[in-house]
Amino acid sequence: MTKQLNTIDYAAEKDKKDPLARFAKEFYIQKGKTYLDGNSLGLLSKRSEQSVIKLLEAWKTHAIDGWSDTQQPWFTLSETIGAKMANLIGANAHEVIATGSTTINLHQLLATFYEPTDKKPFILSETLNFPTDIYAMQSHLKIHGLHSEKHLKLIKSEDGYTLSEDAIIEAMTDDIKIIILSSVLYRSGQLLNMRKLTTAAHERGILIGFDLCHSIGSVPHQLSEMGVDFAFWCTYKHLNGGPGSVAGLYVNERHHAKTPGLLGWFGSDKQVQFDMEPTFTKAAGAGAYQLGTPHLLSLSPLIGSLELIEEAGIGPMREKSLNLTQYLRDLLESLPETTNLLIRTPKNDERRGGHILIEHPEAARICKALKSEGIIPDFRSPNGIRIAPVALYNSYSDVLHCALTLATILKNRTYKNYENTRGVIA
Ligand SMILES: *Cc1c(COP(=O)(O)O)cnc(C)c1O
Repeated sequence: MTKQLNTIDYAAEKDKKDPLARFAKEFYIQKGKTYLDGNSLGLLSKRSEQSVIKLLEAWKTHAIDGWSDTQQPWFTLSETIGAKMANLIGANAHEVIATGSTTINLHQLLATFYEPTDKKPFILSETLNFPTDIYAMQSHLKIHGLHSEKHLKLIKSEDGYTLSEDAIIEAMTDDIKIIILSSVLYRSGQLLNMRKLTTAAHERGILIGFDLCHSIGSVPHQLSEMGVDFAFWCTYKHLNGGPGSVAGLYVNERHHAKTPGLLGWFGSDKQVQFDMEPTFTKAAGAGAYQLGTPHLLSLSPLIGSLELIEEAGIGPMREKSLNLTQYLRDLLESLPETTNLLIRTPKNDERRGGHILIEHPEAARICKALKSEGIIPDFRSPNGIRIAPVALYNSYSDVLHCALTLATILKNRTYKNYENTRGVIA
């Protein structure tokens, strides 16, 4: 160590030089708490609160006319928010729409793009994928009269935490129709090389789509340029849209002539939607993938939260996020009490997202001990502790406080005061 990484002065100096430091005061951070769980549920910002209040006001004062005659017309809000999210993933505005939920959007995309043939009946994914994604794939196999045990190929992880891109590419055989992967693995925080995987899939005539839940708002993407076929994500993690906020979906423009698998009237061309014709005239872009009336109350917080992200810039946010996770790793590797912890997140910047996974057999108790000290981590059964220092509202001092507290808990074994059981959620 050249400088004393583990001193309050060191962290304070880093915070002073942090160009994004001013954003923390835009968020509601509970006094005495250090929130490091923004990859499960991002914090409420004052801007989001204001945008919800504005929506309620519009409803109060304009009632039905809120659809068209307000500053933020409800009828086009999904497209407006979609365009803002497009900037974060390197897509064109008409390739993105705010709609549904992660799970619903994956169902919609599978209903559209999973068209199995005798020669290409397989779906390819991996065992570490988020369960809801796997369940959705199983549903579509069933709808087509196929079988999960046979037609869903799940790549196994060698170490139980990460995947090798080469192993994924090796599994891309001619009989595969579609590949569904996560950009950042929700447990280990590994960031996959999406460019390499997309190129390999397309060379083999396979469609590829990504779940961006753990990367959007944390890692910038270049989806259009890479030619990724489709993607989907939630907005309550790094996008700070609030519990159950409306999700997002991207479809590359080369597929825009295609009719979505599931149709609903909000997927109509807006000029003719209210003609109420029995024949569906689809919207030109990703808007065609909408189903029914948008959930405006769960969409509205995104107006404020995306405004903040736009002001901060996803580039600087990624840079700070990498610095924070690197700082955490450096601290854990240098403090004598924490050197034995197993860090399961890949080391290199280009291979990790916005959080760090630590493993310890007493993880559940350690998380409870951290919480009693005001530090909010994320417990993942059976022995994982995820820590997400978020660029917009966490500081280097937060990271130091977390590492030092963890060291003290391990040294004094105060975690033994808590039961080694998990709650229903975490
Ligand atoms: C959070 C998360 C989900 C959640 O899906 P919902 O439909 O919003 O419940 C799905 N996939 C991944 C990878 C996630 O991280």
